Parts: sequence; C-alpha cells; structure tokens
Amino acid sequence: MTARVLVVDDLEPNVKLLEAKLRAEYFDVISALSGREAIEKAKTEQPDIILLDVMMPGLDGFETCRIIKSTPETAHIPVVMVTALEQQADRVAGLEAGADDFLTKPVEDIALFARVRSLTRLKMMTDELRLRYATGKGLGVVENIDIASILEKGDKPRLLIIDDQLEQAERLKGTLGDDFLVSLEGDPEVALSRVRTADFDLVIVNMALEAMDPLRLCSSIRSFEETRLTPVLVIVRQGDTRKLVRALDIGVNDYLTRPVEKNELMARVNTQIKRKRFVEHLRSSFQASLEMAVTDQLTGLYNRRYLASHLAAMFDRALWTGRPLSVMILDIDHFKAINDTYGHDVGDRVIQNIAERIRSSIRGIDLACRYGGEEFLIAMPDTEKDFARIVAERLRQEIATHKVTVNGGRDQLQVTVSIGIASTADGENEDTSQKLIKRADQALYGAKSGGRNRVILDAA
Ligand code: GH3
Ligand code: MG
Ligand code: MG
Repeated sequence: MTARVLVVDDLEPNVKLLEAKLRAEYFDVISALSGREAIEKAKTEQPDIILLDVMMPGLDGFETCRIIKSTPETAHIPVVMVTALEQQADRVAGLEAGADDFLTKPVEDIALFARVRSLTRLKMMTDELRLRYATGKGLGVVENIDIASILEKGDKPRLLIIDDQLEQAERLKGTLGDDFLVSLEGDPEVALSRVRTADFDLVIVNMALEAMDPLRLCSSIRSFEETRLTPVLVIVRQGDTRKLVRALDIGVNDYLTRPVEKNELMARVNTQIKRKRFVEHLRSSFQASLEMAVTDQLTGLYNRRYLASHLAAMFDRALWTGRPLSVMILDIDHFKAINDTYGHDVGDRVIQNIAERIRSSIRGIDLACRYGGEEFLIAMPDTEKDFARIVAERLRQEIATHKVTVNGGRDQLQVTVSIGIASTADGENEDTSQKLIKRADQALYGAKSGGRNRVILDAA
C-alpha cells in the first residue's frame, strides 16, 4: 500500500528527515514550510495524510489543523500532529483541534509507520464509502447526513480488556473511568468468543499475555468476519519492539507503551472509538437507504444500475490518483446446459452460490455486481493487474474444485467459470470506464474461446 504524505514543518531539516524516512518505505512525500502553504497543498494535492508540526511561526499547527478540518475539500484528510516530547498538553489540544493522531519528536520509526499506515488504511476505506455515498446521492436515494453529529450521539462505548493479570486490568479499568462500559476477560479463548458475539467498540490486549500468544489472539480477531473491523489497541512493555512490529503488521490499530499515561490512553481510546463509529455510520446509512434500489434480488450483490454510476467515479479516481483500478468479468461456463438439464430453479441456485463465493473472496473496498444473467463484474481499486489475476485464479480454482450442492443435497454440480481482466494501468488513452469494461469483456471472450475454465488478462 502506498500513500501520498504531506509533511509540514517550518524547519527544513525536520522536513528532510521525515521525507527520507518515508521515502525509504516507498511513501510519496510532498512538503510545506508553513501553515498557509500546507492548507493550499492539502487542497490541490489531496494527500492521504498530513504530518503537521505544532510550533510554527504565523499560523501554528493547531490553527492550521482547525482550518484543514473545517474546509470541505480537506476535512476528510487525516492529520497527525507532531509535538515535542514534553508537551503533554499539546496532544490534547491537537485532538481538540480535530487532529486524528499525534507523534512525539524525535519521531520514532515504528510509531511513524504504525500511525501513517493505520490512518491511510482507514482513509482508503472511508474514501470508498464516501464515494459510494456520493453515488447514492446521485441516484437520489440517500438523505444528506450530518457527519459531525454522529460522533456525539451514541451509547456509552463498550470496551473489552483482555489480560490475564487481573490486578493490572482492574487498574486500567479504573483509569478509564465511567465514560465507558468496560469488561475484563482473563481467559483469551473465552475473550475470543466474547469479541465475536458482543459488539465491542474497542478491544484492548495486553501483549504480555501468558495464557495464549497475544499475536495469535490479535490475528484471530482480525480474521473473523464479524470482528474484522473491531479496533484493537495493544499495550506493550517498553522495548518490546519486535512484538509490536508484528502486531502492527497483523493489523492492530494502535498501541500504548507501559507505564500507561492517562491522557494518552484516553486520547487513543477515544480516537479509535470515533473512527469506528464514523465508518459504521457511513456503512449503515449507506446500506439502509441504498440496499433496495441498487442490489440484485437473486444474489444480494450490486445491480448493473448501481455499477454504471459507481464505476465511473472509481475510474475517475484511479486516473486522478494514478493508482491502478482492475476490473474482472466472470461468466459461468455452459450455464445454459445447467438450466436445460436441471431446470431454472437449480440454475438460480448455482448463480447464488457463485455470487456467495465471489463475495467471500473479495475485500471490503472491492465492488462486486451481477452484470448479466450468469455474469459478474468485480471492480478492484488500488489493484495491479497481476494481483487481480491472483485473486481471479484463486476464485476460479475454488469454484472448479468445490461442487455446488443442489436439490437438497441430492445433486452435486461441477461448475466452472471463465474470467477476463483489464486494468487502467496499461490503457494508454483509456478515457472511460466503458472502455475498461470492454477490454475485460474481450479478455473474457478470449477465455471462452481458449477452452473456458480459465483466467485471461487483457493484452493491451
Ligand atoms: P458460455 O460458456 O459460452 O458462457 O455458455 P453459456 O451457456 O453459459 O452462455 P449463454 O450466454 O448462451 O447462456 C446463458 C444462459 O443463462 C441463458 C439464460 O437462459 C440463462 N439465464 C440468464 N439469467 C438467468 C437467471 O436469472 N436464472 C437462470 N436460471 N438462468 C438464467
Ligand atoms: Mg453469459
Ligand atoms: Mg456463460
């Protein structure tokens, strides 16, 4: 995952230092030497994240942040305040100015990459939801929402602390105070099932757990469908760098170092909860108002009508950001024969089954729709053609090797699919999403004429 980072600091050596660190990890870096310049560049360059120094002459970091967060074109861009180590109060002030996170100088590599990655990942997700939302509005079925108001209302957040050292967990609970409903769980196995069945707003894991490998615990939380998006905050011992890096790789959202400092704990907990509620709100309001109008009755996937308006927006964004968009079209092989042999109802059942398998093999930001009778289109933002091929090939194999059970288990049908893929990265004068679809369609035709049950990449 690569992202465009705007580094803001009035001292050029500070900018250069962060630039070098970020470039070494393949981030695309732009810089600004003042608050004014930062506000301009945020508008024109649309970075994925802004690292903002607090102490600057003229507009300081807080004021700059406030302006960025109240300007419609830049309000959605995550801002990380960079504060001096001793200025505890600055962190709180930064969050009050609307900052999404903070880093302390001198900036440590782990903290830097952890926060930049976590925020850009989140931004990709919210960008996608915002885009769908805009599409929904274009279709005239979504009410306007007041995003700021979602963050205020809502029940007391529910937290789960997973720690087998109960005394320590109790202390943490005490520090968190009465603003949250805090549960403690000392048995990691029990904790896992609790996390899956209750809807926690945040899970806090002690990385010094003894009853179970805490990394395994975190990766399980990440892998279950129902907890994939549940924020996880880990608490590590000072110097436990290796474990922390692994935890962040697994997808843990944030961390705190022992001894836990109250202001930082509160700030990080609140930030995670705020993000979760924001994403949830976008998701649910989007779903509720659009589901009827834009989903296909038989499969529950998006219908063609929705695709038409949404793909164009995805396409424009790919051109604008320079990131590849891949599209695959999947068509069931010899489907007519299934209808002819087993009847239309069984045919429907097969279409549903394939749709289900498509749904479970794609990411949250991908868009899958029923494109025709037994034809599906999957659009994958930020995806290179070669990666799309891997996804398609895995899906093809999965379908070819696992038969579809129909007629209450009496019949097992072997079904295969052909897939064509095209990507924006190699279209020279590619100017519409229609052309992209056309190229994917041609690749699909190649897969059919080449013998079916295969994946073909557009040759352009
Ligand atoms: P190929 O391998 O070339 O794709 O062969 P095919 O038989 O799958 O292709 P063709 O496009 O000729 O046939 C598609 C069939 O799908 C024709 C149509 O009757 C059937 N079909 C379309 N929509 C539905 C549906 O909603 N339910 C069922 N059961 N069948 C459908
Ligand atoms: Mg067809
Ligand atoms: Mg077919």
